[in-house]
Amino acid sequence: MDFHKPSSEIYVPDGAAVESALARTTHLAIGAHQDDNEIMAYHGILECFGREDRHFSAVTVTNGAGSPRDGIYARFTDDGMQKVRRAEQKKAAHVGEYSAQVSLDYTSGDVKDSKNAHVVEDLQKIVQAAHPEVIYTHNLADKHDTHVSVTLRTIRALRGLPKEAHPKHLYGCEVWRNLDWLNDEDKVVFNVQERENLAMSLVGVFDSQICGGKRYDLATWGRRRANATYLASHAVDVPTAVIYGVDLTPLIENEAMNPGDYIQGFIDRFKAEVSARLAKLG
Ligand SMILES: [Zn+2]
Repeated sequence: MDFHKPSSEIYVPDGAAVESALARTTHLAIGAHQDDNEIMAYHGILECFGREDRHFSAVTVTNGAGSPRDGIYARFTDDGMQKVRRAEQKKAAHVGEYSAQVSLDYTSGDVKDSKNAHVVEDLQKIVQAAHPEVIYTHNLADKHDTHVSVTLRTIRALRGLPKEAHPKHLYGCEVWRNLDWLNDEDKVVFNVQERENLAMSLVGVFDSQICGGKRYDLATWGRRRANATYLASHAVDVPTAVIYGVDLTPLIENEAMNPGDYIQGFIDRFKAEVSARLAKLG
């Protein structure tokens, strides 16, 4: 399968042919950077781990050139960092038994350029080949421009495909901003309490990102724990780890819907809930 960047790559951990590795995919994650999918789409990895009837594949859209670096990586050039980050992404794909790991190798600038059609075309090729039931990507209220751009390109890619090619579900998940603020009825709650060892390993293999002192492995684990604990104040029979998502499926079912208006609706309902409680309590 050819993509626009000659340096793009599809890695298939179990050595299957690329076409069949994509075709067997049921759960697909589309993330901006190396480690984003492991942080936000662990639910998909978990759903497919060790199964014969479900397969998880991941797309990493950017090349990781602008990554922060410290310790043994401090002297690395942008080129060197890209190699490190791609190698780490392959380690995660191996650990998580991904069906395929697609690295599209774009710069952040390419992704943030709304006139650049290449990202959209590559994503369309992948979705058509994989025809997944579920797609996980970033949420529209994330605070990282590249993340939100990936979501907007994903929505555009899906809107450009025939309805038969659409997934049943498109979810926006948590990386650079969690979704605890959503009103409870607006949350998609993913129970990810199983295989905590696997969850820790998947984020832990990205040593170059953790090396600078940011413990993404612990922070991600802590967020999931906090989500579960603070989900409902009186419930006891709750999972021990939860990832939150926003259902973005209406944006591909209704092409006239503006993504900004759609996420604004969630913000408005949050605002109304806070205001109503204050009004009630005087
Ligand atoms: Zn990222």
